[in-house]
Amino acid sequence: MTKLLSGKAVSARIKEEMKEQVKALKENGIYPGLAVILVGDDPASKVYVRNKKLACEYIGINSFEHLLPDTTTQEELVKLIDKLNKDASVSGILCQLPLPEHIDEDAVINAIDPKKDVDAFHPVNVGKIMTGNYDFVPCTPAGVMELIKESGIDVAGKECVIVGRSNIVGKPMAMLLLHSNGTVTICHSKTRSLADKTRNADILIAAVGIPEFIKGDMVKPGAVVIDVGINRIAPKVLVGDVEFDAAQNVAAAITPVPGGVGPMTIAMLMKNTLKAAQINKTKNKAE
Ligand code: NDP
Repeated sequence: MTKLLSGKAVSARIKEEMKEQVKALKENGIYPGLAVILVGDDPASKVYVRNKKLACEYIGINSFEHLLPDTTTQEELVKLIDKLNKDASVSGILCQLPLPEHIDEDAVINAIDPKKDVDAFHPVNVGKIMTGNYDFVPCTPAGVMELIKESGIDVAGKECVIVGRSNIVGKPMAMLLLHSNGTVTICHSKTRSLADKTRNADILIAAVGIPEFIKGDMVKPGAVVIDVGINRIAPKVLVGDVEFDAAQNVAAAITPVPGGVGPMTIAMLMKNTLKAAQINKTKNKAE
């Protein structure tokens, strides 16, 4: 029978463990705090920011929200980040992407202190992920690794195929699988004979951004299928990058959308925030 890899259930478990860790940190005078910056009013970004805030509150992490109008200049944004870099009550800083077009995303990411870069997007942290000696692991790929663990499959020696090569998902995903001794193939829009590649995958990861792009006949029987995609096809309908109904008849384990990788991404963000709190020895705001 196909195993459903529920990110909702796994992330709930991880968050319970983190509650205890936060308690222990506070007893030692360390108060985790996450600053989240949102520029503009993109509806999807607003939902993500709200979910991150709720997760912080649930675990006991201080949450500092900075909701800025889309007229905010790059200079103003960098100035705010600079202030948060120096704020002893802020462990981690996250600037929700995408940013309005007039702001250079790279300049903003580069402005975040790498020790507070809980998204692991700063070039210093990206470099550390390459070498395998990292403090912060990028949240979505880290969440995927947890779900693969949940499937019970050992990555070592397995054929791992990732469809998508973005800096946020595909590339760091490849590094994490490689560090776990997987044999990794990264596919993208110029890949030839894509279905031949995906059908060879013991572990197939879809991060394409095209609704139900991976069809059932592109999946190897018995594969672990991880669907990173979040595509809104109607006001209240989300689907992944995998044709779920067809793929679940072939796969040994598969993630649902919603309730798969999404909640894991947030749980991993919380984990990075606790790590940042320890690194930065974050103080309470009141102190
Ligand atoms: P990007 O748009 O940055 O990257 C998409 C990738 O898919 C690119 O590498 C692109 O190739 C590749 N691609 C596009 N078309 C094809 C094709 N026909 N055949 C093969 N490859 C193709 O997306 P992201 O990585 O940021 O996100 C991917 C999906 O994951 C989205 O649905 C997004 O919403 C979701 N997401 C979910 C998260 C979560 O928490 N669950 C977090 C982040 C993203 P090329 O490079 O050649 O253009």
